[in-house]
Amino acid sequence: MLTVETVSGPVAAEELGVTDYHEHLCFQAPAWLLREDPDFALNDVDKSAEELRAWHAAGGKTLLEMSAIDFGRDIRAVRQIAKQVPEVNIIATTGFNKPYYCDRWVAEAPEAELVKLCVRDLTVGIDGTDSKAGVIKGGTGYNMITPLGAKLLRVAAQAHLETGAPIITHTEAGTMGLEQLELLAAAGVSPKRVCLSHLDRNPDFWLHRKIAEAGAYLGYDCPGKIKYGPDELRISVLRRLVEAGYGKQILLGNDLGRPSYWRSYGGGPGLDFVLTKFVPRLREEGFSEETLQDLLVNNPRRFLAGREEI
Ligand SMILES: [Zn+2]
Repeated sequence: MLTVETVSGPVAAEELGVTDYHEHLCFQAPAWLLREDPDFALNDVDKSAEELRAWHAAGGKTLLEMSAIDFGRDIRAVRQIAKQVPEVNIIATTGFNKPYYCDRWVAEAPEAELVKLCVRDLTVGIDGTDSKAGVIKGGTGYNMITPLGAKLLRVAAQAHLETGAPIITHTEAGTMGLEQLELLAAAGVSPKRVCLSHLDRNPDFWLHRKIAEAGAYLGYDCPGKIKYGPDELRISVLRRLVEAGYGKQILLGNDLGRPSYWRSYGGGPGLDFVLTKFVPRLREEGFSEETLQDLLVNNPRRFLAGREEI
């Protein structure tokens, strides 16, 4: 049986259902970051559980908690949420975010030490718990890959080679995607095991087609974030990708890593936006049920399980 690691143990790939590939449920943002931007205080277990229940009521089943090691990942809080909302599968991540968020120790540690840490998260458990990570994160900054960004990607690559877990990267405003794939390929990673996040920050069909041609998954996670451009833009690029035959390489999420995005914290659009508003709009705008099933269920299952045929 093909299984995927969740914070509550392995789950059969066919049980994953409707999957959100990139979220943040609860984390302890570094103190300096909270001083700079208090809107990263997404740290209330009960509020997160309440919002997650609403998401499940809208049809959601599996959600990736993408808070990386250096972004205040809080596995104990996430485990509590998983206990309060056992009807949802939560998949945790290991690895690191973009260099801007990195602690000094991450910059200074030898790569082999960081790889070891990630592999332990994936095979033994995170921070002394028995909850294993199911994915690996890496990331780069805006329009450049610094030596530290390259190091974080190489660490993700090596952890992937040792465990088989897929890689989800952070791209800053949708830039450097092809360059990330090149670097990962040079480290031995097949693009088919990589998903690039936040590509719809830069809804550029030519670029997205190139990334799809290379074989990677494209992460769309900005629906409803109008400050990053209207949904019309991401929908029109999405449509062209589907028409060009790349509908099986797109993953959907919403990356709502700020309390101001959550209704339970008094914000919006709310964790269920993709399921209650964006997907119905795609349907109304002519996306087929088959395509929607790929985006929500089949593509994330194939990506997470790492098997082409499913
Ligand atoms: Zn994120």
